[in-house]
Amino acid sequence: MTNMIYADHAATTPMDPDAYEAMLPYLRERFANPSNQYSISRNPRKALSTARELIAECINASADEIYFTSGGTEADNWAIKGVALKYCCGKHIITSCFEHHAVLNSCAFLEELGFRTTYLPVRKSGHIEVPLFKESILPQTILVSIMMANNEIGTVQDIKSLAEIAHRNSTLFHCDAVQAVGHIPVDVKELNIDLLSASAHKFNGPKGVGFLYIKRGTELTNLLSGGKQENHCRAGTENVAGIVGMAVALKKNVVDINKNSDHLNNLSKTFMAVISSANIDYIVNGDNDRLPGFINISIRNQDGEALMHRLDLNDIIVSTGSACTSGLITTSHVIASIGISPEYAQGTIRITFGKDNSIADAIRVAEVIISMVSV
Ligand code: PLP
Repeated sequence: MTNMIYADHAATTPMDPDAYEAMLPYLRERFANPSNQYSISRNPRKALSTARELIAECINASADEIYFTSGGTEADNWAIKGVALKYCCGKHIITSCFEHHAVLNSCAFLEELGFRTTYLPVRKSGHIEVPLFKESILPQTILVSIMMANNEIGTVQDIKSLAEIAHRNSTLFHCDAVQAVGHIPVDVKELNIDLLSASAHKFNGPKGVGFLYIKRGTELTNLLSGGKQENHCRAGTENVAGIVGMAVALKKNVVDINKNSDHLNNLSKTFMAVISSANIDYIVNGDNDRLPGFINISIRNQDGEALMHRLDLNDIIVSTGSACTSGLITTSHVIASIGISPEYAQGTIRITFGKDNSIADAIRVAEVIISMVSV
């Protein structure tokens, strides 16, 4: 483990030590159910409200607009299905074709119930086509769901402008900000969005916990039925330790956001300087408006999956944008959506550095890739 270079932080991040420490008492002595009325429940209940306030502050929301969930997938499902089932008088949803499957499959589920979805195309730059977006809004459109930062290529959308267009047409706006929260500034008031999903394990918090921001006054149908937790909106005993860890991790990342992003941008620059100095035929996917430390490249005539495994054998952990199934190389829906030609697409790898990676790591990852793809 000691020599391993982990460069797949878009998949998940290591736990922040302070977040981990903050969780421990809630797994041990402060185990009481926060919903009970006896004295030992007071501390876990207080911990939930402190975490809710901390998280709200980090995205410029109010505490009563933060609803804890089991992660990004649940938050996305709740936002999309919750709005659709509340406003089923209008049956049209707009999203983009390169969203995470938590969004795409929620829309597919609703299509089976009779809803219609428009999947907006994306430009090669990794941005959605705004004129097509405007044209696709119908009188029956109830919701627009566009991600803040793409999980494969890292490109960041102009969410403020997109939300403004949706609102001008009396449509709610949901943003899957799972990759963005804790990495770039997110201010829900400034962006003027109605719903926002986030997940703790993407910002050095624990897995299996996240939150949905629901702007005050926005009405959704509950996804989970049961007890009265989360202001009667999301049933189920709260993951107290996870929520406490999430709040500590987010606060820390937000306080250090500029420092971390400067460091991550340096790692990306270093990596790209080494890669570009070699004689390799590659393209960088998505334009420069990307999450810090996020690189997705396609190398001509390579097999991305094989490359990922060979890097793994060299203690370097990265991800790929292609997979070999039954002898056929298939590319991910994201890489396909930005129109990369097959001889490049099949050699796609995603390198996502984290705050604990060093310049030496960035150089080594690039050098090992070069050694594997040079002829
Ligand atoms: N949305 C995006 C953009 C993601 O990258 C992910 C996770 O990879 C999710 C949603 C799902 O989040 P979780 O793993 O917390 O369910």
